Amino acid sequence: MDRKLELVPVTEWGFFTLPRPMIIAGPCSAETKEQVMETAKGLSDLGIHVFRAGIWKPRTHPGCFEGMGTEGLRWLQQVKKEYGMKISCEVASEKHVYECLKFGVDMVWIGARTTANPFLVQEIADALRDTDIPILVKNPVNPDLDLWIGALERFNRAGHKKLGVIHRGFSTSQKIDYRNDPGWRIAIELRTRYPELPFFADPSHMGGDRKYLLELSQRALDLGLDGLMIESHCNPDVALSDAKQQLTPAGLKDMLGKIVVRDNDTDSIEYKENIDQLRAQIDVIDENLLFALGSRLSISKKIGHYKKDHNIAIIQSTRWESILSRMTEKGAQYGLSPEFVSAVFNAIHEESVRTQNEILSSREGD
Ligand code: PEP
Ligand code: MN
Repeated sequence: MDRKLELVPVTEWGFFTLPRPMIIAGPCSAETKEQVMETAKGLSDLGIHVFRAGIWKPRTHPGCFEGMGTEGLRWLQQVKKEYGMKISCEVASEKHVYECLKFGVDMVWIGARTTANPFLVQEIADALRDTDIPILVKNPVNPDLDLWIGALERFNRAGHKKLGVIHRGFSTSQKIDYRNDPGWRIAIELRTRYPELPFFADPSHMGGDRKYLLELSQRALDLGLDGLMIESHCNPDVALSDAKQQLTPAGLKDMLGKIVVRDNDTDSIEYKENIDQLRAQIDVIDENLLFALGSRLSISKKIGHYKKDHNIAIIQSTRWESILSRMTEKGAQYGLSPEFVSAVFNAIHEESVRTQNEILSSREGD
């Protein structure tokens, strides 16, 4: 059951200028005063109003650069003063929240590792209780939509209504080109359930390499997401964290110039009517279907080898009949006709039998 979220529309936050996309940009980490100021100047010249910088960095291994801490907040304050930008950073504990509030941070985000921990989410929600600064919640590292929604609910229950989400992809053990699996299906589901929730994508952490920023940003906007959080550094090659995925403000300008922003707005009816967005959703589903079919076939091949080793016939008709009747019944729950389900599964079965046949008829050493 979907629980409602009580939200203040993003247009009333006073942070972003419309039309889409709303952009949040800045370095992965605040490293030095010079680096922060120079990057902020470049971004401010591009007309970006919301600056990001990591102050406390959640690193996989100890001994890596773990952020400048409070000193970095002074530089953010300076960015706000000099360029009039809104400043934002990640918080992962009550202590971080108190430091941010002391230094006039305008918005915070919850990192992927923190969203996965309800104790910390609750602690942060409580520490922010007397403020109304916007809070953006990144997806948890694991693809668990309920955990993501649960974090939003915790903030909402603690009285926070300026909420948004950032989709940064999911950890995966699969070998993929990107640093994190985009898992767009989950983003689409969240978007569909809460169309009013301001929705950002983070192509930097999703791709892990600046060469993927354009395709991922375009995908996000085609799916109707509202904005992007992108890592930008005045000199990415010497960045102390996430060097490969950051780009200069000039590079960001160039990349943003190539994005095709299709006509739409965040109104939910318009969104559903926009054919480009629906097609982009279909493309994602089709990719998922192919992935599922490929995975099924590779298991089927394993079964083929197993049958060969144990000298068992390929076609086990009772097993197949039971799959077909179970799937026809299940299909009805998803609005699929029995004819359609049986046509699809017969095709799948045929391919599986053909592949197993090849395995059985191959001689050792083939
Ligand atoms: C970040 O945005 O700096 C960050 C650490 O991202 P994530 O929580 O998505 O890994
Ligand atoms: Mn980073």
